[in-house]
Amino acid sequence: MEHRVPFTGHLIFIGFGSITRATLPLLLGQDHVPVQHITVIAPVIEKNIWFKERGISFVPKALTEPTFVQILDRFVRRGDFIVNLSVEVSSLALMAYAFNKGALYLDTCVEPWAGGYDDPQLSLSRRTNYALRYQVLALQKKLGKGPTAVVAHGANPGLITHLLKAGLVELAVQLNHPLPHNSEGVDWARLCMETGIKVIHFAERDTQRSKQIKQDDEFVNTWSVEGFISEGCQPAELGWGTHERSWPSSARRHRFGSRNAIYLERPSASIRVKTWTPLAGPCLGLMITHHEAASTADLLTVKDQRQLIYRPTLYYAYRPCNDALLSMHELIGRGWQSPPRQRILNGEIDSGGIDALGVLLMGHELNAYWFGSVLSIDEARALLPFNNATSLQVAAGVLAGIVWAVEHPDRGIVEPEQMDYERVLEVARPYLGSLVGKRTDWQPSAAFYETSRNRAAFDWQFEQFIRL
Ligand code: NAD
Repeated sequence: MEHRVPFTGHLIFIGFGSITRATLPLLLGQDHVPVQHITVIAPVIEKNIWFKERGISFVPKALTEPTFVQILDRFVRRGDFIVNLSVEVSSLALMAYAFNKGALYLDTCVEPWAGGYDDPQLSLSRRTNYALRYQVLALQKKLGKGPTAVVAHGANPGLITHLLKAGLVELAVQLNHPLPHNSEGVDWARLCMETGIKVIHFAERDTQRSKQIKQDDEFVNTWSVEGFISEGCQPAELGWGTHERSWPSSARRHRFGSRNAIYLERPSASIRVKTWTPLAGPCLGLMITHHEAASTADLLTVKDQRQLIYRPTLYYAYRPCNDALLSMHELIGRGWQSPPRQRILNGEIDSGGIDALGVLLMGHELNAYWFGSVLSIDEARALLPFNNATSLQVAAGVLAGIVWAVEHPDRGIVEPEQMDYERVLEVARPYLGSLVGKRTDWQPSAAFYETSRNRAAFDWQFEQFIRL
């Protein structure tokens, strides 16, 4: 009760998928924000008895570009909070709407209207998360200060930025390196540069397994199937480090924005990247495109006047659960056509799997250091209903983002990088399992290509992570 803040508004959730189901029990069972009245708006409402019994109202409607204002106007008042956990509903449109209404807002990614991720009318550059983020930054500038809208705040994007900052502090302690400061607090970019970090993976490994075998015509995942397919079909993206010596053949620069990130002319799910997480160790992940690749590239760039001095290479390296990896493999084989059925794993998950989500900080004196959340399916189930290990990490990010917005209600549009990482992690912490910091000697192996004559020094080049 210590941190309870005065919020008397109405919470309006858009979407009733795996993350809304995971988040609502968490919201109802916490003490940070008083919850008086919750409404869920989604086109398909099923299996909602548990939620109705707890006083939650349901509106079976789809929000579309021509209809969303009319639908939302029936429910949203000044001081309310819109939580967008849907697919195919524009984050930008809802953010602008919430601002004009005087309502708070949160989403977990920057979503376009239906068809926006792979619109053939748009260039590949315009289909990236970098481009979506650029639109958010333009809106942020246009709207200025006003009701807080927390953008891209689930687990990743979201908590991963706060784990990055906490991990950098832990690494600095281990290296006995003092934290550099600027007028805003810790100078994260300088800390990365001074500690010699060259590459950062947002490294996630999901080892949850289902008792029910995946069928050939279904896509299986531990969170949104549509969301995963959309990201997988967008171009691969990464913050581009100053230590890189060669330019990947399919890489392109954007012609707008800060240009701290680049993209590859390849679907992100088709780029395989070697990475490492605790417990399971080395693995081959997918370089799925994510908002944080660009937002943390801005956070961690050092410039002198306009001259670029330093940036690490940054990207998401995701080893999804076995069934999701197989599903993605089949999707690519089917020419990126979705199979007729989809299943989000929950009750049928076997005991023992985990989701390890953290940052892998590489290239410094200790070689590599992973910091993040290791949460098991058993811990997630013991804490809350309707959750698996993945959804609870996301729900923890949503809750912490809501609490932060209610505590800072007049900041306008904010990304995770502009929030107080200690406060956010304090709220999310009870739902993250073990917070693990682990040093590793791992480097991506090139054993196949090596002979005693051609052995080259490993120096953290992007090519060395993607060469299979
Ligand atoms: P889901 O696929 O399980 O559910 C999506 C929901 O959106 C469904 O209830 C669907 O009916 C609803 N929806 C579809 N069209 C709609 C419309 N026109 N109007 C209103 N609702 C509509 O997805 P999920 O797993 O719950 O994920 C929700 C969102 O969160 C997705 O955008 C996903 O990418 C994102 N996500 C972010 C993170 C993160 O860590 N940042 C993690 C997981 C999911």
